[in-house]
Amino acid sequence: MTRFVMVIDTRTCIGCGDCVVACKNENKVPAGLNRDWVVEATHGEYPDLETEFRSERCNHCGHATCVTSCPTGASHYWKDTNIVLVAAEKCTGCKACIAACPYDARLLMHPEGYVDKCTFCHHRVEQGLDPACVSSCPTHCMHFGNLDNPDSVVSRLLRERRHKVLMPETGNQPNVYYLI
Ligand code: SF4
Ligand code: SF4
Ligand code: SF4
Repeated sequence: MTRFVMVIDTRTCIGCGDCVVACKNENKVPAGLNRDWVVEATHGEYPDLETEFRSERCNHCGHATCVTSCPTGASHYWKDTNIVLVAAEKCTGCKACIAACPYDARLLMHPEGYVDKCTFCHHRVEQGLDPACVSSCPTHCMHFGNLDNPDSVVSRLLRERRHKVLMPETGNQPNVYYLI
């Protein structure tokens, strides 16, 4: 199995939102809906406050509760990877996956009647390209790659830098890492 991860440096993210725009363009995300978003979080106490910008999306979890909760098999892992996709033709719109995702990573409903979400741009990954959001980031704070390859940039960054994932306590084994 190939473990694809995203590693995002919160030290160099400026919160510009270009990643969100790139995703909307690349994936023709309907108006009013997003597959990714930018959170502005404040840490510490006045006057020692720190602002952190975080580009968030589906975590393509190793233990994806959206997949295990889906009654039709529409939510599934892509090939032999951790990339979680939704097969639109099998999705009945029951919303079990929306309730099962602790990261609120699924669009409420695509106008065409299925639940949509980030795909890690698997159509680009298949061609050896980075996801659109990663390619668009003006500060190059986003990285994408195979964590099973010890020589990949993502493996090196996670070896060398302090990092976190969101809500590890869920047990979902998220695969979007934030350098802190
Ligand atoms: Fe941050 Fe890059 Fe997204 Fe801008 S494009 S918000 S710098 S991750
Ligand atoms: Fe599923 Fe949510 Fe994990 Fe994405 S973040 S794989 S939608 S449980
Ligand atoms: Fe959007 Fe692709 Fe980035 Fe996911 S990986 S947020 S689908 S641009």
